[in-house]
Amino acid sequence: MIQLEKYSIGIGDRFAHQAKAQLQACILAAKGGADIIPVWNKSNREHMIIGSEPSSVRAAADAAVNALSWKRPYHVDADHITLQTVDRFIAPSDFFTIDVAAFIGKPAEAADVDRFANRHPELDPGAAEIAAKYLAAVQEAGRIYRRVESAKGSGNFITEVSMDETDAPQTPSELTVILALIADEHIPIQTIAPKFTGRFNKGVDYCGDLDQFSREFEDDIGAIACAVDRYGLPKNLKLSVHSGSDKFSIYAPIRRALDKTGAGVHLKTAGTTWLEELIGLAEAGGAGLALAKEIYADAYAHREALCEPYTAVIAIDPAKLPEPSEVNGWRSDDYVAALRHDPSCPAFNPNFRQLLHVGFKIAAKMGDHYLRMVEACESTISKNVTENLFARHIRPLFL
Ligand SMILES: [Zn+2]
Repeated sequence: MIQLEKYSIGIGDRFAHQAKAQLQACILAAKGGADIIPVWNKSNREHMIIGSEPSSVRAAADAAVNALSWKRPYHVDADHITLQTVDRFIAPSDFFTIDVAAFIGKPAEAADVDRFANRHPELDPGAAEIAAKYLAAVQEAGRIYRRVESAKGSGNFITEVSMDETDAPQTPSELTVILALIADEHIPIQTIAPKFTGRFNKGVDYCGDLDQFSREFEDDIGAIACAVDRYGLPKNLKLSVHSGSDKFSIYAPIRRALDKTGAGVHLKTAGTTWLEELIGLAEAGGAGLALAKEIYADAYAHREALCEPYTAVIAIDPAKLPEPSEVNGWRSDDYVAALRHDPSCPAFNPNFRQLLHVGFKIAAKMGDHYLRMVEACESTISKNVTENLFARHIRPLFL
């Protein structure tokens, strides 16, 4: 039985060049006394944009693990897969994030809802109504789980169910019912990704009520502990925080909740490693800086199209985006300061950062031209990738 360890970090590597630099952050964590398991995740959406195959994630992870002699577990996550997209992920992945957010609220059979309510007298009176909202989604998760299970064999992979990419957050009482539904569907989930309260915009800090988030996070942990006891779900079941990178202001509340309850967590980062590639290019100066400027100019020119698929998870004020003509006059330091996520730096520009975050399509279109420059600037890039994961994420959360 493959079991996910207590603390794990989901690392996205859009162009599959930074696995070693990312793993280096887990090695630094181990040296500091924290056992953090790396999970390389890439969604079908990202593969489609970049034109890559899921097997490339496995190849990059294996190569990094061999090169750095990593002896602890590591995993490859088929992120946000559905019944339609799962197949090509099955062989190279050992972690499956089953995304059923699109099925939330779809009508379920009344008889199934009644059966659930009768089987669960321990739940609150409102449980049947909640079950009616989530039953179709959990049944779909069951279909996807069984598709993977029939191909890989039970116990040979880790299962996560994600419901984060939807409009309304799930409350802890909804989570309780969802977990009961999942247990009834016989899905041995090890991580669950609810949508939390507040905004988890890509690549920037959390935006919302911190007290409410803290309460909800702790209550979710309580709901999980209770469901593990009651329904026999895997004992290591834990929360998975999606778009978890850069959410600096919630790391302290999360850490407090983990310390208090002894729970584990999976922090899934949002593919911001690609921004560290840009920072590394800019820092290298010369042709690297020129390419970083070219990518910004192109992203600026296509900003509406680039942002359109992400409106729910970004918040860009177009008036605060610098003109490309201004950026073209920047030195390395100016570009780096505007992009690097250091909220205490006056030059940091979250609008600039978010636009570049969704601008990876531009680099993907450049193909080899981009990758060759990434390889040429490897030393400045890898330093930034490692430092970002370790100092800004792992250290505040786990050390
Ligand atoms: Zn997600």
